[in-house]
Amino acid sequence: MKKSPIAVHWFRRDLRLHDNTAFAHATQSDWPVLPIFIFDPNILQRLEDRTDGRVTFIHDTLNAMHQALQAQGSGIRFFYSTPAEAWEQLMEEFEVKEVFFNRDYEPYARQRDGQLYEIWKEKGVVLKTYKDHVVFEKSEVVKDDGKPYTVYTPYSRKWKLRLKEVGLPEPLAYRAAGLSPMEKSVIIPLSEMQFERSTLEIPSSEVPQQIIQHYHETRDIPSMAGTTRWSVHLRFGTISIREAVRLGMAWNEKWLNELIWRDFYQMILFHFPHSVDHAFKPQYDAIEWRKDEGDFKKWCEGKTGYPIVDAGMRELNATGFMHNRVRMVVASFLTKHLLLDWRWGERYFAAKLLDFDLASNVGGWQWAAGSGCDAAPYFRIFNPYNQTEKFDPQHHYIRRWVPEINTQDYPAPMIDHATARDRCLRVYKEGLGRG
Ligand SMILES: Cc1cc2nc3c(=O)[nH]c(=O)nc-3n(C[C@H](O)[C@H](O)[C@H](O)COP(=O)(O)OP(=O)(O)OC[C@H]3O[C@@H](n4cnc5c(N)ncnc54)[C@H](O)[C@@H]3O)c2cc1C
Repeated sequence: MKKSPIAVHWFRRDLRLHDNTAFAHATQSDWPVLPIFIFDPNILQRLEDRTDGRVTFIHDTLNAMHQALQAQGSGIRFFYSTPAEAWEQLMEEFEVKEVFFNRDYEPYARQRDGQLYEIWKEKGVVLKTYKDHVVFEKSEVVKDDGKPYTVYTPYSRKWKLRLKEVGLPEPLAYRAAGLSPMEKSVIIPLSEMQFERSTLEIPSSEVPQQIIQHYHETRDIPSMAGTTRWSVHLRFGTISIREAVRLGMAWNEKWLNELIWRDFYQMILFHFPHSVDHAFKPQYDAIEWRKDEGDFKKWCEGKTGYPIVDAGMRELNATGFMHNRVRMVVASFLTKHLLLDWRWGERYFAAKLLDFDLASNVGGWQWAAGSGCDAAPYFRIFNPYNQTEKFDPQHHYIRRWVPEINTQDYPAPMIDHATARDRCLRVYKEGLGRG
């Protein structure tokens, strides 16, 4: 039987129908477009928690997209298999003429796509990939000599100049008439993939106008709803980064700067993929981290005896989110007060954060450990008490998460601040001397 010729749009971290660059272009193809999503066991099997909130979120989002497309006579074709197997199956069933997707800069995604390029090439499939996840990618914002920036401030200056030059692309709509017809079908149930529904709440994607407008005044106060909580949406593409940047440009430059940090870390990950598990500055790999699993457990559970640290860790464990100011405090505490390897902390955040994003997480952790590009210098050691005094002076945030503070049930500090500080300075100095 003759196979039907089609084009395919492959959804990955771009889970929206509107203003989706590759999807909009796909629906302009000469061939009917089949949208697909692959639940990849390589990724899913690594997740420890069978009620992982991200899996529920992705599943709910895709289900809503699928239903919206089914109302237009089309839909999403789902797979639960390795990407190579899913593509093999697709190419057996159809004559795939073109494949469209938005680029992903993480090492696993690049390796996966690289293997598939070979298969597509062999079958004569035309590949069309697009930038969508960031405003400027790879080498679009580089130094005058063509090398990537490793410091944020000059990068952000160039980023803004470049945006002035080229402007933001207008939002793109997809063409429903370009979609391939599909019989009524349902998404693969979570249970078939050995997952259960999570009860974690996903922050809203409504435009938080007041928050963005007042961001510069409220961003550092963890007890307030003073940041947008859009990170999970930007991570999975349920909000277009271009929409966010448009709001930042209109309402608040401080907030826009945070979106530029996001582009910056994606660019760093692309150019320096070794930074995922090696210090960006190699001499920091010579630091002798303590291997104390008991201390690590206390940090994970929020039982360090430092209220601001414990509040942050408990917020993370209970909600899958932690305020940025507190992320900096707990990361500094793990690496500098406890002298535990930043990679342990990075992995714990990766397992717990709904907004876990490899580029920003590694960037944030290496910043805190002092080993990253444009990091805090190693001798700058956050004092958790001063941080509390500055950002939670009335203990509103702390009391929400550590109600037993000031009672017998609350543990004494694991290590005294001055002792921890001296030890950190000594061990870092020794390590850097060797490295
Ligand atoms: C140790 C550590 C680990 C982190 N891990 C992650 C992570 O895995 N995923 C993640 O998205 N962010 C991470 N961040 C950055 C930041 O903490 C979160 O993006 C922010 O707290 C999310 O809250 P929000 O959406 O309310 O942000 P807002 O303050 O409203 O900022 C808007 C958006 O800008 C981006 N953004 C803000 N701050 C940063 C930053 N410092 N670096 C990169 N992008 C930023 C996010 O996409 C965010 O949603 C980490 C920071 C630290 C210090």
